Amino acid sequence: MLRENIERINEDIKNILIKTGRNEDDVTLVAVTKTVDVATIEEAIGLGITDIGENRVQELREKIEAIGEGVNYHLIGHLQTNKVKYIIDKVKLIHSLDRLSLVKELDKRARQRQLVIDTLVQVNVAEEESKFGLKVEEVLPFIEEVLKYENIRIRGLMTIAPYTDDEALLRKIFRTMYKLKEDISKRKYENLTMDYLSMGMTNDYKIAIEEGSNMIRVGSAIFGARKY
Ligand SMILES: *Cc1c(COP(=O)(O)O)cnc(C)c1O
Repeated sequence: MLRENIERINEDIKNILIKTGRNEDDVTLVAVTKTVDVATIEEAIGLGITDIGENRVQELREKIEAIGEGVNYHLIGHLQTNKVKYIIDKVKLIHSLDRLSLVKELDKRARQRQLVIDTLVQVNVAEEESKFGLKVEEVLPFIEEVLKYENIRIRGLMTIAPYTDDEALLRKIFRTMYKLKEDISKRKYENLTMDYLSMGMTNDYKIAIEEGSNMIRVGSAIFGARKY
């Protein structure tokens, strides 16, 4: 199952990239491993998975402890400031930068460890109340503020689209994100490169890639439905 699932997703990615004339390695597949046991994750790594995403700090810490180095870890969920210290030196990318208090804590902890932490700004395009993230019009002023902090670096944007089969709505949201990323890139801020556009999950990753995503976060299409 696992092998077929990963192969199918890689095939989907490849086909869309060919169709849209992009480089074959343009999309990073982040395997979302929440509730998945370590043995299964290690099996997925054996099948070529290089990037692991978790949305809770405690679970991420446990997985890092058990699995160790050799893969990239992504924190994709809401991050409380009091938990920053546990993961600051262990993750490749934090996808959920959404407020100044978190910026300050990340910058402080990164400076203590003499590192620069890479982040994505989370955007709540559909302005769903149940979701974290900045409104589209808040993103640029927020980024300009974050640029003042030396130990935190913005590498792009992230969004979680609504769970829906309304393809037109999904495309609209993903296009808004792509345009926002392009607009910010064009401003050529020093110390800011919009490398990543993290969008697309099991329900919508194909549409997301078609609309310019280069980092998808996929859980259930790899590991099956989650058992909480
Ligand atoms: C759970 C989760 C995913 C993956 O969801 P699937 O629908 O299982 O692919 C992606 N991103 C975030 C932020 C998540 O919490």
